[in-house]
Amino acid sequence: MEKFSISTTTRNELIDITRRVQSAVKDSGVKDGVCTVYCPHTTGAITINESADPSVASDIERKLKKMVPKNENYSHAEGNSDSHIKSSLVGNTVQVILDNGSLQLGTWQGIFFCEFDGPRTRNVWVKIS
Ligand code: ZN
Repeated sequence: MEKFSISTTTRNELIDITRRVQSAVKDSGVKDGVCTVYCPHTTGAITINESADPSVASDIERKLKKMVPKNENYSHAEGNSDSHIKSSLVGNTVQVILDNGSLQLGTWQGIFFCEFDGPRTRNVWVKIS
């Protein structure tokens, strides 16, 4: 398994990690298979969406914030229930087909780490099978 870490800078943020994932794939030496990208955090997530226009990521971020308000009558005492909920809504893993060492993404697609309780240092795990 390959791992890398990223530093997030704000509470809610989508960060394009496509190049980091591609580099982890290269380090693995594996050329073909299915690449799983996993977020081992309960207030982070991984998604694939448009990376060409950065306003897509900021729209997603803004809509999730509106859908899941920070302050409600949540039970979890840590004060970050909205972060946990957003993490579950988006999901903690994506899979991308790997062909001849290259991630098979659509023209406009990128892989994003979603921060919902930053700023923090986060880990991303990559495994090709
Ligand atoms: Zn919590």
